[in-house]
Amino acid sequence: MATVPTFAVPPTFLGILRAPDEAAIHIAGIPFDIGTTNRSGARFGPPAIRAASRMLVDGDHPHWWVDPAALPVCDIGDFDIALGDIANSLALIQGQAAAHAHLVALGGDHSISLPLLRARAIGNGAPLALVHFDAHVDTWPDNFGQVYAHGSVFYHAIEEGLIDPKRTVQIGIRSPVQKDVYDWTRGKGVTVITAQDVHETTPHAVAQRVTEVIGNAPAYLSFDIDCLDPAFAPGTGTPEIGGLASWQVQAILRRLEALTFTGMDIVEVAPAYDSAEITALAAATMVWEYLAMVARPRA
Ligand code: MN
Ligand code: MN
Repeated sequence: MATVPTFAVPPTFLGILRAPDEAAIHIAGIPFDIGTTNRSGARFGPPAIRAASRMLVDGDHPHWWVDPAALPVCDIGDFDIALGDIANSLALIQGQAAAHAHLVALGGDHSISLPLLRARAIGNGAPLALVHFDAHVDTWPDNFGQVYAHGSVFYHAIEEGLIDPKRTVQIGIRSPVQKDVYDWTRGKGVTVITAQDVHETTPHAVAQRVTEVIGNAPAYLSFDIDCLDPAFAPGTGTPEIGGLASWQVQAILRRLEALTFTGMDIVEVAPAYDSAEITALAAATMVWEYLAMVARPRA
């Protein structure tokens, strides 16, 4: 048992106080949300996710049998952003991310994934494979005229050669979308597993498809919390009904152990619209799932 009650551990992710040079994976908050097109508020995501993560400190992960807080992971606090300035914020985020070999980012709106992918793809020297959970394709060329914001992240990531669309899988897709945007995405070679596809098959089959598409390429996990149904994650900017249940995502994630993940972000948690912290807890738990899977000792 932990020595202090869960609610009293330090307000870092999982209460972790380890120094960065003792950790292989660094967690950072990115309090940026001026790339939202509907409800704002994801700037308050990082502290909400950290607070909810304290539910998870009292024992081992019951599938991987490790305590993620005991693994070489640290919380480095929040990145600097340029208040009210998308372009300069993205540049600042990229610069800060470049210093970390394996980063887990707590957003923030989905715009932050573009500079994170820029930093990671440049470090990798080649386009990354991408596992993308979302209700939205996020491949619009612009956002009501704004070129860089949360709906155009993966349009730019594909156009800039940061991700390989043929090794990109989107899971949970179901929002209204212009057919030409959807067709452009599929035409580039992106594999789209809609929310309905997930509901009509098994987590095992979804994970198998993801593993086939990604193969052994270095992969990045971008997790928009709105892939979950609003019943499981109401605290977000652009909720869409018909989404995934938290258990479905857990059951898929736990079967992706063959993949080589090099980084993760969790985005679009907007605590002002949350109820009883369920969205923040879902987000914290997905990060905990990721850490247990990728950072656990392997034979
Ligand atoms: Mn979304
Ligand atoms: Mn998104």
